[in-house]
Amino acid sequence: MRTLIVDHPLINHKMTLLRDKETQSPTFASLVDELVMLLAYEATRGIRTAQIEVETPLAPYKGDHLARPKPLVVPILRAGLGMLEGIRRLVPTAEVGFLGMVRDEESLIAHTYADRLPDDLTGRQVFLLDPMLATGGTLEVAIELLLDRGADDVTAICLLAAPEGLARIEQAFADKDVAVSIVCAGLDVRLNEHGYILPGLGDAGDRLYGVV
Ligand code: URA
Repeated sequence: MRTLIVDHPLINHKMTLLRDKETQSPTFASLVDELVMLLAYEATRGIRTAQIEVETPLAPYKGDHLARPKPLVVPILRAGLGMLEGIRRLVPTAEVGFLGMVRDEESLIAHTYADRLPDDLTGRQVFLLDPMLATGGTLEVAIELLLDRGADDVTAICLLAAPEGLARIEQAFADKDVAVSIVCAGLDVRLNEHGYILPGLGDAGDRLYGVV
């Protein structure tokens, strides 16, 4: 498994604003959007391309374009939805599927309540969006579902990861012969007893959309 913690002064600046409890939801949402664009630039370094020939006004040119099948972007609801537009701006031709997942706050076990994904993902490159890689339970279930349907390359884009969650994903997919990558903006210290990342930024869904 490939893990990339993107270290960039602009990312660090925006992440600090995001963590600040005084940052209100509209600013929080714009920061998430900007951060995802920066992370997606790194996360898509391995996006598949194919050669294509075009005519410039002066001469033929052999270049690259995004290969088929189109990449699939999958935000994990609810908080992953706040990350969707950032990556779509970079890869507007990607298809979008949705996974609704919620974790039981006591057992911390992830449960899927909505699945709007193609049944067959054979040969598809998938970019999963989930801001907080905490226990890793949600991401493990989501990646397993994508691999079971035939995806052969999954990159999860997260804002923050906890060491416990990263270790869990590494262990879960270490022996599998598939490309699994995690790209995030920061690796924090640990989880608290409720499975929240410390120091973290609180509940990403609540900070984006309010407490419902
Ligand atoms: N989900 C969140 O929104 N925040 C955390 O710290 C952990 C899980």
